[in-house]
Amino acid sequence: MTRDARYDILFEPVRIGPVTAKNRFFQVPHCNGMGYRDATSNAAMREVKAEGGWAVISTEQTEIHPTGDIAPFIELRLWDDQDVPMLARIADAIHKYDALAALELCHNGMNAANLYSREVPLGPANLPVATAFNDPVQARAMDKEDIRNLRRWHRNAALRGRKAGYDIVYVYAGKLFGGAMYFISRRYNTRNDEYGGSLENRSRLLRELIEDTKEAVGDSMGVVCRISVDELLGQEGLHAAEARDMVAMMAELPDCWDLTLSGWENDSQTSRFAAEAFQEPFVTGLKQLTSKPVVGVGRFTSPDTMVRMVKSGILDLIGAARPSIADPFLPKKIEEGRIEDIRECIGCNMCVAGDFTQTPSRCTQNPSFSEEWRRGWHPERIRPRHSDTRVLVVGAGPAGLEAAMMLGRRGYQVMLAEASGELGGRVAAERRLPGLSAWGRVADYRAGQIAGMANVEVYRGSPLSADDVLALGVRHVALATGSKWRRDGVARRLLKPVPIAPGADVLTPDDILAGRMPASRNVIVYDDDHYYMGGVLAEHLTRAGFDVTLATPSPTVSAWTFMTMEQAFIQARIIELGITIECNRVLREIGRDGAEMACAYTGRPHRIEVGSIVLVTARLPESGLYEALKIRTAEWADGGLESVTLIGDAMAPATIAHAVYEGRRYAEQLGETIDPDRVAFRREVAGLAAWN
Ligand code: ADP
Ligand code: SF4
Repeated sequence: MTRDARYDILFEPVRIGPVTAKNRFFQVPHCNGMGYRDATSNAAMREVKAEGGWAVISTEQTEIHPTGDIAPFIELRLWDDQDVPMLARIADAIHKYDALAALELCHNGMNAANLYSREVPLGPANLPVATAFNDPVQARAMDKEDIRNLRRWHRNAALRGRKAGYDIVYVYAGKLFGGAMYFISRRYNTRNDEYGGSLENRSRLLRELIEDTKEAVGDSMGVVCRISVDELLGQEGLHAAEARDMVAMMAELPDCWDLTLSGWENDSQTSRFAAEAFQEPFVTGLKQLTSKPVVGVGRFTSPDTMVRMVKSGILDLIGAARPSIADPFLPKKIEEGRIEDIRECIGCNMCVAGDFTQTPSRCTQNPSFSEEWRRGWHPERIRPRHSDTRVLVVGAGPAGLEAAMMLGRRGYQVMLAEASGELGGRVAAERRLPGLSAWGRVADYRAGQIAGMANVEVYRGSPLSADDVLALGVRHVALATGSKWRRDGVARRLLKPVPIAPGADVLTPDDILAGRMPASRNVIVYDDDHYYMGGVLAEHLTRAGFDVTLATPSPTVSAWTFMTMEQAFIQARIIELGITIECNRVLREIGRDGAEMACAYTGRPHRIEVGSIVLVTARLPESGLYEALKIRTAEWADGGLESVTLIGDAMAPATIAHAVYEGRRYAEQLGETIDPDRVAFRREVAGLAAWN
């Protein structure tokens, strides 16, 4: 296939100072939970993107000095020469496919509590550090010597970056990560020297860092300046007019501008709260202030939107973090005219949770993400089948669809049987909840791929029994039969079923997703799950006209969504919708006209008068078919059946990302002998330093 001529413009080269990007696809810096701890995994992950056609591939933020130590988050470090080989490995991996390697240097300033290095935090003023966990530590107002030191550390890091082989270096003053942003910010910068007061003074440090970097490496490396264009705090924060003045003041200084919203939660908004290209209004017009190329982001997955960004003079380079994670081959697919093969990011921020939990990031859409080196998984390829064999996959939710697709790619004869008339399992239902329509891409991508495979047969409306399975004569069966929400209150706080009065109207998310609505107008949504379901059902029911109380044992609504940076957005929406919030409440008893709760801290009773309650608690695996087959193992050999394996929620309920991953794992491991005593993946063990 050849690419559509409409997209030619995306494949034009763009000059960034002394280097040239071969096309307009720019993977902007993104964390991944691997950082310096999993350096080779990190390098292999970046390499796959180079293979997928990105012209520029950036590292995540790279600490330049122990005074800017962002522990417990695991990013990269370039504190001294010891770190150069690790950084070089990443650059070398990127260079294997003719891409430019960009190094995002960062001194986190007031965003660094220096928990690991135990250095004293540095900022423009004497203020508490601005960290994610409100660490009880303050930053010290930097004096002139500190500023001179910082400039020298930054310059040295740029020189080390060149030694490590990078083509582009970032000067970072954005998203309240790049420490220079605290100087730019009127909120944080209360200085009255030449680094405080006017915008010119507040951006002096940034200007100096750009000048230093240009002077040190500008002859051979492109220098990108990343700033934030709005903090969405009105006049209190950095806002459009100020950003405009800043770009105008330094217009020609860097070789490229990278423009984003701040903080990170605004920059990487989920699809529940922001559509593709949501940053457009904040970036529009800034390119006209400079002759240098401009890169910006907006969860771009549609080539038409990308073309519009370039043609309408908003961006020169299409920046992407999440779309490049979900589909490292996005540029290649556009180039080869394979638009329908693009695995679009669903905007769920499960990848971000990897950074927050300091573990290799998972991607809901791309289960090979972070597994490129340690398990040898590739986003596009999988090794051929081990034998001519027929495989049955029961259940077409995220796990079953992924398993069937990847088994199909391996060349097996696959039968995919789904009880309902629709593919997607939980996603088919949840995509209809407010704000979650993009999650349907999990099903659409896989259903679309499977539709083009002659060796994968799909049977809708086919609820299979053990008799059916045994009669099919397949050798391997994957049971991706999913899970059901519990109706007895058991989850995290309650480990025994809650007493329920006869006749009480108790519902589960499955009921609501199937279209059953509460009998009473007054409803409690009781959330002991803590991810998105409680909050989204409260919103759904409110929009449907119910009077909703959201009760949870947590101190905040949808508490785990802190990890996906959605918590504050969700709580704001719940408040705006007029939903009554009852935090710190543990369910004790459900009556016909009310629920008995207790304070999560004191146990003091608290009654909520309502007619119906929706229990968003734990789930139980749908493993009935598995049990039924297990007790008939004696009959397996008659039909040639060798293995029956539970996967996804049917094995252990978890997130959609987990289910997709388990589908992939099944497809990868079919035909392998798994040694349960062996660690199933490669890992990097730090070399021991000399003791003395
Ligand atoms: P997961 O997230 O693990 O993929 P889901 O709950 O999303 O799980 O999907 C499970 C799917 O399995 C649902 O679409 C359900 O209709 C289907 N299913 C469950 N039991 C059977 C069965 N016996 N035969 C065919 N399909 C089934
Ligand atoms: Fe997109 Fe979700 Fe994957 Fe992140 S985890 S890249 S948001 S699909």
